[in-house]
Amino acid sequence: MLTLSTYKYYANGEWKESESGQTIDIVSPYLDEVIGKVQAITKKEVDEAIRFAHEAQKEWAETSLQQRAAYLYKWADELVNMQEEIAEIIMKEVGKGRKDAQKEVVRTADFIRYTIEEALHMHGESMRGDSFPGGAASKVAITQRVPLGVVLAVAPFNYPVNLAAAKVAPALMAGNAVIFKPATQGSISGVKMIEALDKAGLPKGLVNLVTGRGAVIGDYLVEHEGINMISFTGGTNTGVHLAEKAKMIPLVLELGGKDPGIVCEDADLHEAALQIISGAFSYSGQRCTAIKRVLVHENVADELVTLLKAEVEKLSVGSPEQESTIVPLIDNDSASFVQGLIYDAIQKGATVVTGNKREQNLIYPTLLDHVTGNMHVAWKEPFGPVLPIIRVKSDEEAIHIANKSEFGLQASVFTKDINRAFAIANKIDTGSVQINGRTERGPDHFPFIGVKGSGMGVQGIRKSLESMTREKVLVLNLAD
Ligand code: NAP
Repeated sequence: MLTLSTYKYYANGEWKESESGQTIDIVSPYLDEVIGKVQAITKKEVDEAIRFAHEAQKEWAETSLQQRAAYLYKWADELVNMQEEIAEIIMKEVGKGRKDAQKEVVRTADFIRYTIEEALHMHGESMRGDSFPGGAASKVAITQRVPLGVVLAVAPFNYPVNLAAAKVAPALMAGNAVIFKPATQGSISGVKMIEALDKAGLPKGLVNLVTGRGAVIGDYLVEHEGINMISFTGGTNTGVHLAEKAKMIPLVLELGGKDPGIVCEDADLHEAALQIISGAFSYSGQRCTAIKRVLVHENVADELVTLLKAEVEKLSVGSPEQESTIVPLIDNDSASFVQGLIYDAIQKGATVVTGNKREQNLIYPTLLDHVTGNMHVAWKEPFGPVLPIIRVKSDEEAIHIANKSEFGLQASVFTKDINRAFAIANKIDTGSVQINGRTERGPDHFPFIGVKGSGMGVQGIRKSLESMTREKVLVLNLAD
């Protein structure tokens, strides 16, 4: 049973109450009650945290990779030890099923371990001067990766532990210090994740957890001259705003999506339906890589819709405590936004195949057929359990509609013809294309890329390590 606590923020290895005297209530999305309070920290406290981070980073950069690895292995072990406690918090705070929450914690420990190993196995390169015309063999360039300094890690609510650790672990292994700003709804999970790191005995000041509303401290953090790199995951509007503020600071952005599931005439429709439903509705569609629209050939659309309807109607709806697939959305505003998309589509002629029912912030899984380009649901990211079906006449039309989106995270193509799959995949403007599988992030060492409104830069363990370092060249001038 979770007791109501006021959680402290974490700076210089200490848990602290903010001088502001202000806290933020964290309301559970499904219990509809306050489950804890977090500190609303001041700008002065942000300054201090960044100063501590810089002090700690200088020594950390000198620490051997093996020593860094030892701390991070302990962190992974502590997370595994605390998996039930952390899963309970994730469930209560962001309304994710307990089993999935626990999987998130274990996946995070695996992520940290792989990050350690990847960092240990990365190495620089050397070049001979005489490979360039006129260059001398006595000149040798040695390229190494060096840390950037202090990384600002800003995470979203939906994977409050995994997506946060996916920034903190590579930053640390690469020799940086971290300022971690969790999503406000996700801050208690963030506190727990940092408790595990604290138990691992990480040197003080290296990771600092700053809590407070993004709208209040976000810009201050992003524009702070003590921040040397920003790794952000969240909505596209927030990401674009942040990119404008960040100016010349290196930035990796993982943003929203509108991933299409393209179903060709020759697809295995049964398998496609299973993949689409699991891709679209897990955790009520609150995943950046959820399938957020279906583009199906008109000749097989009726059959696919029948299969999809049958699968949607099997989905459990209710509470994360009962492991329901469809759970209340993160807050009422999010539910109203999704409901608004459904109403707009119906008003403009879409057919409700199933769903369109709301109880407070719980939206029943909704399938909309005959969706057309003049409806908002065809283009907007709902981050909720509504799936629009757009009927197309050809692969070319599917590609055209897929690419018309402002987003470019992932896409799925369902067909039995591998040549056709490649022909379509090659023309789709997204970071990744899944062939005969649902859109998803991971395994976590795969490159994870958002293009257009879905992001900038590449994540995935090796890519994250690279993004949090820069290359530095030493040139040896040997005596002839
Ligand atoms: P969000 O509202 O954009 O918030 C993300 C983070 O940004 C939160 O920590 C938020 O803090 C912070 N923030 C808000 N304003 C800020 C500012 N001015 N400066 C700096 N930080 C600021 O997103 P969300 O609702 O948590 O997450 C859902 C979105 O994330 C969806 O669009 C989803 O597609 C996307 N997402 C993308 C990926 C991916 O890998 N591509 C993965 C997961 C989620 P507060 O909570 O305090 O406002």
